[in-house]
Amino acid sequence: MSKTAERVDEIAGVEARYWHALPDGRIQCDVCPRACKLHEGQRGLCFVRARRGDGIVLTSYGRSSGYCVDPIEKKPLNHFFPGTPVLSFGTAGCNLACRFCQNWDISKSREMDTLADAASPERIAAAAAALGCRSVAFTYNDPVIFHEYAIDVADACRARGIKSVAVTAGYQCAQARAEFYRHMDAANVDLKAFSEDFYKRVCSGELAAVLETLVYLKRETEVWLEITNLMIPGENDSPAETEAMCRWIAEKLGPDVPLHFTAFHPDWKMRDRPPTPPATLARARRIAQASGLQYVYTGNVHDRSGGSTYCHACGALLIERDWYELGEWNLTADGRCVACGAACAGHFAPRPGSWGAKRQPVRLAGIAV
Ligand code: SF4
Repeated sequence: MSKTAERVDEIAGVEARYWHALPDGRIQCDVCPRACKLHEGQRGLCFVRARRGDGIVLTSYGRSSGYCVDPIEKKPLNHFFPGTPVLSFGTAGCNLACRFCQNWDISKSREMDTLADAASPERIAAAAAALGCRSVAFTYNDPVIFHEYAIDVADACRARGIKSVAVTAGYQCAQARAEFYRHMDAANVDLKAFSEDFYKRVCSGELAAVLETLVYLKRETEVWLEITNLMIPGENDSPAETEAMCRWIAEKLGPDVPLHFTAFHPDWKMRDRPPTPPATLARARRIAQASGLQYVYTGNVHDRSGGSTYCHACGALLIERDWYELGEWNLTADGRCVACGAACAGHFAPRPGSWGAKRQPVRLAGIAV
């Protein structure tokens, strides 16, 4: 049981999966490696999974911290139907405790009032369809912790031909992970650093578990995978660490997994660090390319070259991006380089989407379905 778990008088929620009873009467949650051991009425570190009687319930099922329609590039996914709109939402809580959290108002929320916009899976899928979204993204906080809700939403979306995207830190146990990704179409996994020390000291987690998820996704599933590495000055941005990470990705996952180096801004419990200089991201991109990675991006900074997609075979510009706005498009209808015919890794429609860079907050109550 984590120190942060707390007693609650009444636990409302739907029955959750992945737990087992312990000989001492507690119940252990088996969704993530944190393995919270709960007495009656206690919540896990993620806050949204809680012991009720002889089981565990998910208290945030059917409740969201808000919805937005974004370009898919904002997740970030650059090789998954570029230019298309995605209905993004999250719930509350998180199973990591990153000191630099960039979404802490949601992930650290212990106020169920944050979850203002209630919605059934069918309602979300219908809204995504009505809004013309190609996909739905579980984002803002980690869908690992709202496992049952994310899966039901993904199923409702799949029934309508809408894809599901998980934006996650990949801190998940094997059985729950296998079920979860049977329902997902794409994932952006946050690889926060390439050292156990960082994960332990800054996130209260373990790197090894995240690497296991990455290998699983690439080798055992059809889920489209991209990786994000948020670079924090003086914490995880050394050239040696970046090179070790990129070599690992190239060797274990393959050179065609897109990698996004994104800029940190001072937030939550890490306000003593400056924002990431654009030069740091550009250096990381060069290191990754020299390590053999074929699709490397910079994010959260204005960098046309670092945001655009180039052919791994001939170097031609394939997809031009200016922030989240698409420009030139030099892919054939089946996703090949117009110049040399090499296939670009990813999922592409015959034509790019035209959503543009806009971010549109939505209330489901206001959408006719
Ligand atoms: S999902 Fe939540 S309750 Fe379960 S082990 Fe992880 S932090 Fe604990």
